[in-house]
Parts: sequence; structure tokens; C-alpha cells
Amino acid sequence: MSVLDLARPEIRTLQPYSSARMEAAGGQIMLNANESAWAPNGDGGLGCNRYPDPQPDALLQALAELYGVRRDQLFVGRGSDEAIDLLVRAFCRAGEDAILIQPPTFGMYAVSARIQNAAVLEVPLSRDFNLDVPALLAAITPAVKLVFLCTPNNPSGKSISREDIERVAQALAGKAVLVVDEAYVEFSGQRSVADLINRYEHLAVLRTLSKAWALAGARIGSLLASPEVIALIRRIMPPYPLPLPCVAAAMAELSPSGRAEARENIAIVREQRGMMHTALSQLPGVREVLLSDANFLAVRFDDAGTVYRQLLQAGIVVRDIRRYPFLQDALRITIGTPEENARVLAVLNETMLNKGWA
Ligand SMILES: *Cc1c(COP(=O)(O)O)cnc(C)c1O
Repeated sequence: MSVLDLARPEIRTLQPYSSARMEAAGGQIMLNANESAWAPNGDGGLGCNRYPDPQPDALLQALAELYGVRRDQLFVGRGSDEAIDLLVRAFCRAGEDAILIQPPTFGMYAVSARIQNAAVLEVPLSRDFNLDVPALLAAITPAVKLVFLCTPNNPSGKSISREDIERVAQALAGKAVLVVDEAYVEFSGQRSVADLINRYEHLAVLRTLSKAWALAGARIGSLLASPEVIALIRRIMPPYPLPLPCVAAAMAELSPSGRAEARENIAIVREQRGMMHTALSQLPGVREVLLSDANFLAVRFDDAGTVYRQLLQAGIVVRDIRRYPFLQDALRITIGTPEENARVLAVLNETMLNKGWA
């Protein structure tokens, strides 16, 4: 059995859109795409009057090298959000198939599934945010085509062990595609499971330049998977997903100096995460700071609503995550610059004093 047997039959036989860019490359006088012959104002040599390469070779090469995979094992699109959406559309028949998620987790898996009218099966994480592997496997039905695992998990910050991921991967062979979302893996001590795509053709890994690589505004995310799955996803991708300025921004970030800067910033985040964990844990009114492998901390407060408003009044916006299961008293605070983090602590100190908690 091939992993493609799990995909929607009509997608497997779909005649993809053939863009002018794909049909003819390498000409000198390009009159096949109804583009303007003149560069736009302030173009700076980018050539934005031309449609971009749908999957630019230099970017594929740089990302494949970064993630330790081959180019035919990598699709690059507009953030991992786009890869999530394309996976759901490729594998889930509307009104018939389902995805499986473990709340509390990232919201886009369920949103993409609902847009596609795929069902969303939920197997909650345990109270201490660990994956319940037997419960997950017991919940698999023939309708489940995609199982999403988020590690480190958003919003808890906890990682799933490589052993647990492999256990799930082994059990899902021939049944469903396992999608491991590693949006925050650069901040964790654990290594990526990207190498495992060579062993499991039904394993897909999501990586992004939005978090550790400082490029949320450029929207560059990657799907790492078997060449068959990548080819399938490329058949249904939008004709020109990657704007030229975004590709240029990604190439600059992946240059030696860009990589050095990213590494430095990751080190600062990890150091500041430890500092913030200690400092927040000592504040009155703080019930618990969850241990995090990511660039944020989920923090439980006696009165999270008041803390949220006090921070907002001081101009500090954090994420209210009280709607998530097991987190009804929690806020999620991203690790900022050392100055920003100090400001958070100062405002929280003041808030706690005013409330008489100190
Ligand atoms: C931020 C985030 C993403 C989205 O990444 P983009 O590449 O910006 O689309 C994906 N997964 C998780 C868990 C995230 O927190």
C-alpha cells in the first residue's frame, strides 16, 4: 500500500493548473504570461513585474539543507498554515473523513478541517500535557486521514518524545498520515524528527521560518514528507505561492550572517525563558509556570483576567488562553527582548502589590 491510497481519489487524478512560469523557463524575451515588460517603482532589482518561480530552486536548496532532507522531500509555501490547509484538502473528503488532534493545541488544524467539512476528533492531552498514546491509537477510525502532533506544543510548551512519535508513526502505517508540527523545535533541546520521513512514507513534518527565524511577516513554511506526498501537494498548491520579496527575505535570513544572528537570538530566548520561569514562579498570584521548550510560557494566575487587563493597560499584549482545556486560569506570554521581559515583570509586580497579594 502507498501513502497516496489515503489521499482523495479526485486529487490524485486532478490535472493541475499549468502556469506560464512552469511551461517555459530560460527564455530571454518573455511574452507568455501577460506580465508588464517594465519593473515597478522601487523594485531594487527584484523583478517583481514577473511572476515568481512557484518553488524557487535556491530556496528549496537552502531549506532542504537546513532541515536535512532532499529537495523532492520539501514543499515550501506561505507559512506552515498553508501546508496544514493543503494536507487537509488533499487527504480529507468533505463530509466523510476526519482529522485527529490533542487539545489543548494549535487552532489551525481544526479550522482547516472545518473549512473542508472534515470532522475533528479530539483526544485530549493528559492533565500534565503529555500525549496519551494508547488513547490516541484507540480513537483511530477508518475516517481519520490525518493525525496532528504538535511538539513543542502550543500553548503548553511541552515536547513529545521521539519514542512516542515513533510509536504513533508505527501504529498508523497504512491507516493515516502523521503530521508532526515542529514550529518551535529550534527552541527545544530535542532534535527534529525530520530524519524519520525516510523511514515512514506516511510521516509529514512541518517547519517554519516564522518563529526562531524571525520571518513571520514573510510567510515561509515548509512541509517535509515523502516525495509522493510532496508531489501531490505541489499539484494543488496555488499557482505562485511565494512572493519575490518574501523569497529574498528568506534567502537573506538563511545566509551565513543571518543564521548566526538567528542562533544568537535563539540562545537569548532560551536564557530569558529560564529567567522568566524563575521570576514568574516567585510572584504572588502566580499558581504555576509550565515548563516550556518553546519561546513562550503558559502561566497560571489566581486571577488571569485581571492580570490580562493590567498588562494591556501598560501596553503589553499577551495571549489569553483561558478557553483551552486544563488552562482556564492561564495566559501565554511570549519571550521578548530582555528589556521587554523586565517590563512584564515590573508591571506584574506592581499589579500583585495593588491587589494586596504580596
Ligand atoms: C505559529 C504556529 C504555526 C504557524 O506557522 P506559520 O509558518 O507562520 O504559518 C504553526 N504551528 C504552530 C504550532 C504554531 O504555533
